[in-house]
Amino acid sequence: MSAPLPPGSTIGILGGGQLGRMTALAAARLGYRTHVFCPEPDAPASQVSGATTRGAYDDPAAQVRFAAAVDVITYEFENIPLAPVEALACVKPVRPSPGVLAICQDRIREKHAVNAAGIATARFAAIETDRDLAAALATVPPPAILKTARLGYDGKGQARVADAAEAAAAFARFGRVACVLEGIVDFTCEVSVIAARGRDGAVACYPTVENRHKHHILDETIAPAALPAAVAQEAERIARTIATRLDVVGLLAVEMFVTRDGRVLVNELAPRPHNSGHWTIDACVTNQFEQLVRAVAGLPLGSPERHSDAVMKNLIGDEVLDWPRLAAEPGACLHLYGKAEPRPGRKMGHVTRLVRRADRT
Ligand code: AMP
Repeated sequence: MSAPLPPGSTIGILGGGQLGRMTALAAARLGYRTHVFCPEPDAPASQVSGATTRGAYDDPAAQVRFAAAVDVITYEFENIPLAPVEALACVKPVRPSPGVLAICQDRIREKHAVNAAGIATARFAAIETDRDLAAALATVPPPAILKTARLGYDGKGQARVADAAEAAAAFARFGRVACVLEGIVDFTCEVSVIAARGRDGAVACYPTVENRHKHHILDETIAPAALPAAVAQEAERIARTIATRLDVVGLLAVEMFVTRDGRVLVNELAPRPHNSGHWTIDACVTNQFEQLVRAVAGLPLGSPERHSDAVMKNLIGDEVLDWPRLAAEPGACLHLYGKAEPRPGRKMGHVTRLVRRADRT
């Protein structure tokens, strides 16, 4: 294995959003430079990085400039087009690998990969044609959820369907692209685990956290989740197993459902920093962004130990306008992403409130 990247090296980040921004801040702390590649002007990550290649991801000239300027490449969102990532990987190491990204971009491949690791998902059937839809409705009887296999996020590309007619209408509305029909899970809570995995194969997991959503967007993360220890440990085992099976170098966030009878089912995977891990910035010895930097740079992982429990609240759209009050709240750790316009549904920042473990009775 090659030596770790020395401080002063440059980490390339594909994507300019808040996840890239917080990765760049963590990289800076370890003495690395960051160089962002994204199409948008004044992106949150660009504001805190030494350099940006601004261009379309599939622009070959921009790719060449970017690849020449960096030592290693990572990405901060998984809906990035795969072909440019594969092209970049021929020139500089991309971590996690394009193969991991390809699996996580496609719900059908993702579910097969999870099941192949011996881990349960909701019952599902893959659909590519109207004929598949009829077969899927027999395997997964409605009510069910139809999801596009690709490019869905925050509830987009999803429809609850009560019967065959609604399923056919939703499939047509999605443009007859590849979909999965999923059985509805009667869950008691939604949880996630973020696993960091180093180049040496070492894995460090953060504890299982509970995620509460509003309008399909993450609203609050409670760390750790209030679950029986065996259930929380099972969720961590699942994340560790999948990260190892997929040979992830970097981060893997695993979103899961906990059913009424205490089973843990995987919903989806993200091979990048995750909103449900933002609390680690303020509550853990090494936060998720630093783990990513360490993994892609070939450093040993840091300790994921948490010194505090925490509740992370996202600031979505106009909620960010409350920043003066939050900035004045003692003990509230306020993070703002440098986005000018608070549009509805836009993640503008977050606030983490710590519950010191020693203070708990
Ligand atoms: P996803 O985009 O797959 O994360 O789904 C967005 C949200 O829809 C999840 O966080 C759940 O609240 C809900 N959801 C997704 N799939 C299912 C399912 N199979 N059963 C019940 N609720 C689901």
